[in-house]
Amino acid sequence: MDTREGLYIHIPFCRQKCLYCDFYSALHTESLADSYIEVILKQIQRLDQNFSSIYIGGGTPSILSQDLLNKLLAGLKKLIKKDAEFTIEVNPESVDKEKLKLFLERGVNRISIGAQSFDDKKLNSLGRIHSAKQAVEAIELSKKIGFNNTSIDMIFGVSKEDLKALEAELEKAAGFDIQHISCYSLSYETDTPLFIMREKKEVSPIDDEVMADMYRYTMSYLPDKGFNHYEVSSFSKPGFECRHNLNYWDNNSYVGLGPSAVSYIGGVRSENVKDVKEYIDRFNKGMDLVMSWEELPPVQMAKESASIKIRTKEGIDYGWFKNKTGFDFLELEKSTLGDLAEQGLIEYNEKSVRLTNKGFLFSDTVSSTLL
Ligand code: SF4
Repeated sequence: MDTREGLYIHIPFCRQKCLYCDFYSALHTESLADSYIEVILKQIQRLDQNFSSIYIGGGTPSILSQDLLNKLLAGLKKLIKKDAEFTIEVNPESVDKEKLKLFLERGVNRISIGAQSFDDKKLNSLGRIHSAKQAVEAIELSKKIGFNNTSIDMIFGVSKEDLKALEAELEKAAGFDIQHISCYSLSYETDTPLFIMREKKEVSPIDDEVMADMYRYTMSYLPDKGFNHYEVSSFSKPGFECRHNLNYWDNNSYVGLGPSAVSYIGGVRSENVKDVKEYIDRFNKGMDLVMSWEELPPVQMAKESASIKIRTKEGIDYGWFKNKTGFDFLELEKSTLGDLAEQGLIEYNEKSVRLTNKGFLFSDTVSSTLL
């Protein structure tokens, strides 16, 4: 039987849509959340194995009431492997002392806080509904309640932001007693409100060079403060790398529950229907929840694995690759490696290949070239 290592549960509710967001989420109402969690609990009941990592993401998981969170976490108890990583995402405006205490009591051992920025103007321009003060309070509260594995999300590259502003943001972020920081550069995803605002010239993206300077600064500043850069956007104190994401990047299997969630089992990747009401309805009628699926040919699967794994600091060890995919990496990618190395994007030897500092700046190009 295929080992399903990770379980992802999507909580597809938000109070308001952020301007840059292209994740699936719906407006939160209590009755919809009640019906949805009821379905998820039934799905959990049907799962017959333990997971080494469970990740409750969103959307906004912390928007759920104390009662629903308690039911969900109690239901999940039977699926948690000993020593599993168990993460829940929270947003600063909807998390409080009681919820954090509940998470801890129910075995959650990692909190991921959607702080994004410590500047009210920047938060406002992203359409976030919380303040910088609330972000700080949520981070400090997680520590006070007893979490010792806390991650925060940060965004850089917002219109009018400059390097100096980012320096202040990172200084603040690294000053907390936290273990993990995910730093994302702002992207203008098609059809998001921010994308439309850019089309209408209501906002102007910052210069590519400034963006590159910001990323270079992040790559040098955070490791100086003890956060190892272990993947394109991920920085952690030693031993606090996100195991759930490592599982994805290692091309291991995972199960995704909820609308728009993706599962990857036995080489087949499937995606659930996107709409939460349709998801509930289909489940209650005993219909298939999967909207699309694909089984990649082995060579394509191997290339995909390479394109994801190259984004990690350690890069790709050919022995690992052979073991995982059955392919000889150097043979498989022989037409691309020379070019990428000549452009200074990768460095490779007879054992492994990894991104250079310049390669981290152009990781999307490297990934798509390996595909
Ligand atoms: S809170 Fe998160 S999921 Fe919800 S709209 Fe904002 S970025 Fe998207």
